[in-house]
Amino acid sequence: MEPENMPTAPEMAKIVSLCQRRGFIFQSSEIYGGLSSCWDYGPLGVELKRNIKEAWWRANVIQRDDVAGIDSSILMHPKVWEASGHIQGFSDPLVECKACNQRFRADHVWVLAVKDAGHDVQGYISTLEPADLIRKAVDFSNRLPEHLRVAESEQAKRFGKKDLLQNLTSEIAKIPCPACEVVGKLTEPRQFNLMFKTHMGPVEEQANVVYMRPETAQGIFVNFQNVLNSTRKKLPFGIAQIGKAFRNEITTGNFIFRSREFEQMEIEFFVKPGTEEEWLNYWLERRLKWYVDLGIKAESLRLRKHQERELAHYAKACYDVEFVFPMGWAELEGIASRGNFDLTQHANASGKDLSYYDEESKEHYLPFVIEPSAGVDRSVLAFLCGAYAEEPDKDETRVVLHLHPNLAPVKVAVLPLSRKDPLVEMAKDVQVNLRTLFPTQYDDAQSIGRRYRRQDEIGTPLCVTVDFQSLEDNQVTIRDRDSMSQIRIPVAVLVETVFKKLGGEDFLTLPPGGSVVKVEKE
Ligand code: ATP
Repeated sequence: MEPENMPTAPEMAKIVSLCQRRGFIFQSSEIYGGLSSCWDYGPLGVELKRNIKEAWWRANVIQRDDVAGIDSSILMHPKVWEASGHIQGFSDPLVECKACNQRFRADHVWVLAVKDAGHDVQGYISTLEPADLIRKAVDFSNRLPEHLRVAESEQAKRFGKKDLLQNLTSEIAKIPCPACEVVGKLTEPRQFNLMFKTHMGPVEEQANVVYMRPETAQGIFVNFQNVLNSTRKKLPFGIAQIGKAFRNEITTGNFIFRSREFEQMEIEFFVKPGTEEEWLNYWLERRLKWYVDLGIKAESLRLRKHQERELAHYAKACYDVEFVFPMGWAELEGIASRGNFDLTQHANASGKDLSYYDEESKEHYLPFVIEPSAGVDRSVLAFLCGAYAEEPDKDETRVVLHLHPNLAPVKVAVLPLSRKDPLVEMAKDVQVNLRTLFPTQYDDAQSIGRRYRRQDEIGTPLCVTVDFQSLEDNQVTIRDRDSMSQIRIPVAVLVETVFKKLGGEDFLTLPPGGSVVKVEKE
């Protein structure tokens, strides 16, 4: 895409500041100086995050006959991770600086050094002068903000990590430490497991080691037969799960984009071998549409197909759904065609038969799987960035989040024009009426203009103003966040008008009980 047509994203600092200021997201353990790469969702953030998960669950489970949900435990039998390959393979080689004791991803150090020297990584060994490399690498690493380093390490994956690391091992003595710049103190790359370990039971013995799951997917695979037997589903069918995952990531950063504790929304969609390509295309289209339906601009999304050399040996194809985050294009969701690798591994390791009996063809086989795997936190960041705007408002600028009504943490704000009594009483009645169906906020502090601004900034789609005239004519004003237009309507039709304005039958609302209310068409 030409640079002038590149979709833009707001600055990360603005998003972080808004999140902190208005109670979307805080640094974890902030009063103790914070815990790196862990985040707490505040009163508005928790609503936004719940709304995203609810919208995903509704689209992928509730509204489909061919997907069932589960909620598996975070701690699983250690053999699960042996069979899945995570214990052997889910590790990033690290180098450590003997001078300053900092650790870095080996591929990261390497690509930084080589790319800035103006060489393609593959061709480096034969062409580059080591002295030149060292000088440039020092300059380059010092200049580089953290988010670019992440992007560089993504490049490393694309170049083929294995070759890169073999070359790095032989060249490591010439590369300066990215932090302290001392040359010759980096160790050889060493494996470092990204899974968090803990102990089951009070005695800390090696025999009791368990892992915090690094993905929710394996909880789905090991329950394949349970779901199949209990639901009597026929292929093709999927199992969906939303839950926490933990990865001891080496390079974290970019706010909630890459953290050590995060949430995933994953589907394993099981299909008859031979039909996987058609289902992969189906899910690519379907997942992109989900983001667009919820307000992300199509031009801010793209699909990146993994090169052959990037694919795991068992994978048939893999795509990243990428979004223009403030630091550039980066993965929001991965959609992979994984063959029957996982079921085969678990069947062999557990000795259990995990095959499917196909009544039509009268044969047993292990289904193939398509895996759309999205990050909840990355979705939160994408929806915030996609919704953020600074717009002229009279002589000033307003900050507004154009969040889809289904995602907005607060749907309607009730604003009495004054704090005087008969008005407050009426406004409170209006709020009580509205909040049986919509999350509301009552705000009577400061001028009405300021209150509109506060609601715009947190993405509230509608504000209902109660004024002195309302006491006389029983009418209130509804102000629309996006157009800033206002209409006056009788209180008697307020609830249904708000409903229609929030999207009518497409509007998703959650009463206190938590189950989805189906809004009937009038
Ligand atoms: P990356 O290449 O960015 O490390 P990945 O390819 O390892 O991601 P997957 O294993 O495919 O990621 O996980 C699926 C989704 O989970 C990702 O698309 C992302 O949205 C989310 N995810 C993965 N790791 C993290 C993390 N450390 N922090 C937040 N979200 C994450």
